[in-house]
Amino acid sequence: MLHLKSLWTTWKPYIVTALLVIGMTAAMHPIRLALDVVNIALLFLFPVLLSAVSWGLRPALYAATLGALAFDFFFVSPLLSFTVADLRYLISFGVYLAVAALTASLAAKLKRQLLYSRQREAHSAALYEISRQMSDMTDIHSLLANVSAQASRIIGTDIAIYLSDHRNRLVLTHRSSVQSDWGQGETEKATAKLAFDHGEAVGYGTSALRDSPGYYHPLRTEDRVHGVLALNLKERKREFTAEQQRMLEALCDLAASAIDRVRLAEEAKIAHLTAESERLRAAILDSVSHELRTPLAAIIGSATSLIDGDHLFTSEDRMVLLTTIRDGALRMNRLVVNLLSMVQLESGMLRLRKHWCDVEDLIGVAIAQVKDFRQYRKLSVQLPENVPMVLGDEVLLEQVLVNVISNAIKYSPDGSDICIAVSDKENNLIIEVADQGVGLEHDEYTRIFEKFYRAQTTRQVTGTGLGLAICKGIVELHSGQITGKRNDPRGTVISITLPLNPQTKANVEDDEDE
Ligand code: ATP
Ligand code: MG
Repeated sequence: MLHLKSLWTTWKPYIVTALLVIGMTAAMHPIRLALDVVNIALLFLFPVLLSAVSWGLRPALYAATLGALAFDFFFVSPLLSFTVADLRYLISFGVYLAVAALTASLAAKLKRQLLYSRQREAHSAALYEISRQMSDMTDIHSLLANVSAQASRIIGTDIAIYLSDHRNRLVLTHRSSVQSDWGQGETEKATAKLAFDHGEAVGYGTSALRDSPGYYHPLRTEDRVHGVLALNLKERKREFTAEQQRMLEALCDLAASAIDRVRLAEEAKIAHLTAESERLRAAILDSVSHELRTPLAAIIGSATSLIDGDHLFTSEDRMVLLTTIRDGALRMNRLVVNLLSMVQLESGMLRLRKHWCDVEDLIGVAIAQVKDFRQYRKLSVQLPENVPMVLGDEVLLEQVLVNVISNAIKYSPDGSDICIAVSDKENNLIIEVADQGVGLEHDEYTRIFEKFYRAQTTRQVTGTGLGLAICKGIVELHSGQITGKRNDPRGTVISITLPLNPQTKANVEDDEDE
């Protein structure tokens, strides 16, 4: 059945042409006397043109020969014979055949060009579609899968793609089919390496290794070869056409620039991350060393003065120097406590010792701890009539309050008000610490809870940027939340929300019963 079909496809142009010539002869024969012989010859050009446009040069030449024979046999005297009485007709035959051959070749050429331009149009549309798909891809593996699917569609064979790694070694990165081992052999790798090193196509149909059973095309942009696309032509006896090769080259160019784009984006990301961790490292060193050295210098200075010039100082002077030493030591102690808490929080080793805590007491203890450096801030506390008890680790919750209240003191001017307000809402306890200090930009209120983040506007005040990160860790261990916002008309409000029926998510060590 298939055989018959292909036979019909091969012979159809010749059969249809013959039928056309027979039909025309039959139609013109009865009226031949009314038609001039030259007109008949012209009419026989019609099947020639038709065959040329429909099927190309060969059927057209066949139509011309058939037409010339039919014209001679049926219309040139002596009729029903191939002999020609008047030799002038031989010139007519010659002209007819020449015109037929010329028009046939022109029409056939036109048809070829039409076909070719249609093909190009289809290929350009396909390439445009491919490039559009590729431009959306940000992951190298889906990009390679797409390229190999498109290449398989063009040539219909197994594809292997090799890409260079960070040491510029070629690595087999993608195979179109897992069943076939194409691309894994040493010969294939060596040939791909050759194409990669020279940046030129190698293998079947090229000048280098033309007997190779594969075709290796480099994936290169203007300044870099990213890898090689290898086609398996082992099982393909059919050569691939010039048009397929052109498509493949265009696909490889598109793939190379897409790979270039994805790699550049990845490199930019890594550079950004490196810069970011470098910045973080510098910030840690900077703030830790500063926070250690400033109080240390004050302690050393005051202690030296006391030792060397003990007899020069009045008892008040001595008290001032001793207070400086104590404040410096307290500041260093706070830093050490903060660093240790941070390490414990990050390693998940911090265990809560939960008790029912009186919030009023918590606030009282925290205020007592900051009293030495609160100077001239006016601190007020607003409590509801019935202050609810909260289940939590009192030492850690006090640490949270100390950090937040000392921030309110540090980042607000002398003589300003600081208000600590407690309320309960929807089964939550809310503690708000509001100051009238410098305040921050809106978007900084989320960043201040990051480790080592310090706002630009507060750089003149010392600090490590750890306090609020620790507060966030501790509050979240209590299943609560800590947020910041601008105070009206100026300053900052930090809100701590703790659930009154907490479902603590950390390793809780409930020593309530102990
Ligand atoms: P430390 O670790 O000693 O507490 P720190 O105060 O700089 O150092 P955090 O308490 O984590 O660190 O605060 C981070 C940053 O948030 C501060 O550097 C400051 O820029 C900003 N900030 C925190 N609280 C306030 C506030 N009440 N008003 C204005 N800015 C604040
Ligand atoms: Mg702080």
